[in-house]
Amino acid sequence: MRLALLGYEQTASMDRADLIIINTCSVRAKAEQKAFSLLGRLARMKRNKRGLIIGVGGCVAQQEGEKILGRMPSVDLVFGTQAIDRLPRLIQQIETRRCRLVDVEMDEIAGIPEFLNGRRTESQVSKFVTVMRGCDNYCAYCVVPFVRGRETSREPESIIREIRVLVENGVKEVTLLGQNVNSYGKKQGLCSFPELLARIDEIEGLLRIRFTTSHPKDLSPGLITAFGDLEKLCPHIHLPVQSGSNRILKRMNRKYTIEQYLDKVAKLRDTCSNIAITSDMIVGFPGETEADFEKTLELIKTVEYDGLFAFQYSDRPSAPSVKLPHKISEPIKRERLQTLLALQEKFTKSKNKALVGSTQWVLTDGLSKKQASGQADAANPALQWTGRTPSNKIVNFYLDGHPDAKHSLTGQIIGVRIDKAFSHSLFGKAIGAELPAGGLKGVENYAA
Ligand code: SF4
Repeated sequence: MRLALLGYEQTASMDRADLIIINTCSVRAKAEQKAFSLLGRLARMKRNKRGLIIGVGGCVAQQEGEKILGRMPSVDLVFGTQAIDRLPRLIQQIETRRCRLVDVEMDEIAGIPEFLNGRRTESQVSKFVTVMRGCDNYCAYCVVPFVRGRETSREPESIIREIRVLVENGVKEVTLLGQNVNSYGKKQGLCSFPELLARIDEIEGLLRIRFTTSHPKDLSPGLITAFGDLEKLCPHIHLPVQSGSNRILKRMNRKYTIEQYLDKVAKLRDTCSNIAITSDMIVGFPGETEADFEKTLELIKTVEYDGLFAFQYSDRPSAPSVKLPHKISEPIKRERLQTLLALQEKFTKSKNKALVGSTQWVLTDGLSKKQASGQADAANPALQWTGRTPSNKIVNFYLDGHPDAKHSLTGQIIGVRIDKAFSHSLFGKAIGAELPAGGLKGVENYAA
């Protein structure tokens, strides 16, 4: 957005771009490899377009800094995770001096920049709002504390101001973001995370609130209660557990046990019976035995997650686990990942199937991908729309009798009767657009 002040605007294709910024992630080796392979392709593009400026930001930039300029002669700018607000100035310097720059300075007490400064935002249904950044947890496999810095939270007033402007511009749902979002405010003595949620819940015109990512140790009783009390807080929590074995959790420095984790899951379900729970898992952490892995599978069976993001462990430079002995071989990691994903697939499918016949209240994002790309079912003339349930499940649906109602459903909460369930989405027919009295929590047959 701020680059618009320098005269830049978004293009639909990279071939037409004068400035390309690659935002990198160093959490897994694969993401880093992909970023470098993209940079290789861009180098070829730059040979035919000499004025093209290529920048690399994010965690790999923070970690590798100047080395990227050495490895990739086509890159003009490397900027770290705290240099994002300095980006316009850096680009201006490159434009005027045709130089190559590196800015990976980090300030432990740096605040999070005020994003608003009175600017208007484009209208979209759902937006992310950063409420804190950085992390003080030092999980053994993670580079976040090294590349994103120490934990810092934004002032609640600044967050509320930003969300109000978003709502004025048509946003209906916000997802509060932070590496360890549920420890918001603790370190600086600001309000607690549940208090922040309660204040956001009062913003008129806002329909839904989500947040990610939570650390299980920071899931407080107050936050659990918020799922029962706050009307706009969606019944979904992403609660990364990483392993089902206490021995491995200790090696990972996760600071909770499986018993404590399960106790919190039970309390969440007591408070909000239809809450959807998703998680992250790492397989093949150094020293993970077959018995440890079996415990992870047992945990999946016990919790019956709505969805899981699972990954094979990979050494990341500067993560403490690099030094741990007993690394697991690639074939074993691959096999464990496949076993885990196959098990989870059963739960995801059966949870989705259980929703067939129910009415789900879907916040409509817009036309479905198929509709937008002209591949919708020709036999059904009704437009197909897409959105999410409060529990964050994707629903594609159509509305009989409104074949020309283009754009009219975007941003509306629509009651959809679910007819079909797939692995990653649901399909149904719209049956109404009125949110019943009592809001989402008062919906009869509400089975999110
Ligand atoms: S809590 Fe999350 S971000 Fe922080 S160190 Fe652990 S895995 Fe990384």
